Amino acid sequence: MALRKILTQGDEQLLKRSRKVEKFDARLHTLIDDMRETLENSGGVGLAAPQVGVLRRVVVLLDVNQEPEEMVELVNPEVVEQSGEQRIVEGCLSVPGVYGYVTRPTWARIRAQDRDGNWFEREGEGIVAQCFCHETEHLDGHLFTEKVEEYVDIEELQREDGEEGEPE
Ligand SMILES: [Zn+2]
Repeated sequence: MALRKILTQGDEQLLKRSRKVEKFDARLHTLIDDMRETLENSGGVGLAAPQVGVLRRVVVLLDVNQEPEEMVELVNPEVVEQSGEQRIVEGCLSVPGVYGYVTRPTWARIRAQDRDGNWFEREGEGIVAQCFCHETEHLDGHLFTEKVEEYVDIEELQREDGEEGEPE
C-alpha cells in the first residue's frame, strides 16, 4: 500500500467527471487499498478517487455511526434515496482549511458495488448521509464550495462548541 497525494482546489482533475469502473481487477484493489491508507492518514472521513488524480468512480469513507467506525468501499456509488434536511458545517481534504454551512439530507441510501463487483445498498444518517452526498459529487467534478451558504471560521466554531470539523 502507498499514500497518494491529495489534489487541492485549482487542480483541474477535481472538476472532471469520473468514469464508471468496469474491471474489478488487481489494479482497482491497489487503488482502493491506497485510498484507504491515504484517508486514514489524512484525518478526514471520506475520499474520492479524483481527489488522488484517478478519474474513476471509487470512494472510501468512514461510517462513523458504527461502533467501532467502519471503513466502507464504494465502487460506482449512487445516492438512490434521501430524506430530511440538515444545515451543517462541511469541509474537504481538497480544500484545506475552508469550512462552510451546507444543506444536506439527514438520511440517505446509497447503492454501490464492492471491490469484486457485487452490488449492495447501505444507509447512512447525519455525517454519513452528508458524506455519501459529498463524495458522489466529487465523482461528477463538483466541490462542496459550490453549495456553501455561509463560510465559517473553524477555530472560532471549535472554541464555541468544542466540535471538530472533519474534512471529506
Ligand atoms: Zn471532498
